Amino acid sequence: MGNDTGATALFDLEGVAVVRVDRAEDGMRTVHLVTTDPAARACPACGTFATRVKGLTVTRPRDLAHGGSAVAVRWHKRRWQCREKRCERGTFTEQIAQIPARMRLTERLRTACGQAVVDGGRTVVQSGRDLGPSWPIVMRAVRAFAQRVLPPTPPRTSAIGIDETRRGKPVWRQNPDTGKWELIADAWHIGFVDAVGGRGLFGQVEGRNAASVAAWLAARPEDWKRHVKHVAIDLCATFRAAIRTALPDAVVVVDCFHIVQLAQRHLADLRRRLTWKQHGRRARKGDGVYTVRKLLRRNKEDLRPEQLTLLETELDHMGTYGRQILAGWQAKELLRDLLRLAAKHTRTHPDRSAISAARHRFNAHVADHAHLPELATLAETIDAWWDGIEAYVTIGITNAASEGNNRLIKLDARCAFGYHNRENQRLRSLTATTRRARREALPA
Ligand SMILES: [Zn+2]
Repeated sequence: MGNDTGATALFDLEGVAVVRVDRAEDGMRTVHLVTTDPAARACPACGTFATRVKGLTVTRPRDLAHGGSAVAVRWHKRRWQCREKRCERGTFTEQIAQIPARMRLTERLRTACGQAVVDGGRTVVQSGRDLGPSWPIVMRAVRAFAQRVLPPTPPRTSAIGIDETRRGKPVWRQNPDTGKWELIADAWHIGFVDAVGGRGLFGQVEGRNAASVAAWLAARPEDWKRHVKHVAIDLCATFRAAIRTALPDAVVVVDCFHIVQLAQRHLADLRRRLTWKQHGRRARKGDGVYTVRKLLRRNKEDLRPEQLTLLETELDHMGTYGRQILAGWQAKELLRDLLRLAAKHTRTHPDRSAISAARHRFNAHVADHAHLPELATLAETIDAWWDGIEAYVTIGITNAASEGNNRLIKLDARCAFGYHNRENQRLRSLTATTRRARREALPA
């Protein structure tokens, strides 16, 4: 059979040549291949180059589409006999790097299937539809491709973020005996992210306990752990305990967003409790507190001067009840003043005296209103987490990267209509969140 050099160049599969292309009546093209790679004659057992042909065999590996539509491939392979005396192999058929023995897909098709998902963000189903192979084959290709492009150990970083995301929806069931509703499935993933380099997720573990977090951290290489100086978390004692065990030298940084959120929650509790005490019911139209309830949720700097005046005068008119709510709002704002000193906002490192002055203002205000339990609780939490809060104000590292990653993970899960297999889910999360960083790392 003579080779068709033009068709071979077009087909462009290393190690084989095209001898001819047939076209059936339905338009389907069949490409006939023969082996050109001399290494295909090497015995897989002993490496000796065989010289005696024992016969011919034809295989039908699947390949990429060509010229816009699928093609059928017939590879006319020779069966060789190994004549090395000490070799027990006997006969073998040719194989090339693109089509290893017993493989029914070319490597380039397998790579394309994996790449479409891992780099292209396609779902496994869609990758299979576009390129041909079935779901399990594409999923295997995804795992193989991910293993090739994901770094075996996380890249070095000076700061990581840890946070948790729910996997799917919680499932409740009514206990037939007690009639009570019980939570029967509520799965969480804890993610470890690059907090400063934007390189996405480093890994995920299941469960919400300190042991699983500590175990993941402990399993990282010593060199990587040494470089982690800061760990950003929300107000989660479980994470703090795990970090102290696994990364004893790292500084825990509390994410400011969650502190403000906590202050907002305490303010809302305070307002509701006092309203009930005052009216014996929830606030409604016509009540002074109803007029200002939305303003209470806003930040001071986002209020127009007339809104600020309205907030203060309205609450003042309400007497002690209103002034106590105002005290709650002021506590939240004093806390925000403290957090706003953060390095991130000012682009300079705030000096210690400014931080301690702001903390003192907050504490003095809370002490003046010590009879309000919501403020006392807030101040206690701030004290309990002071090291982490001070670290945030000094360094300015946040857990914002985690939030961004969680959005990507949820988007990916939605496109796939959820996942059944948690291991696959974690792999997909890793590939989705590292996609951009991997693209940027490619040589131009
Ligand atoms: Zn051999």
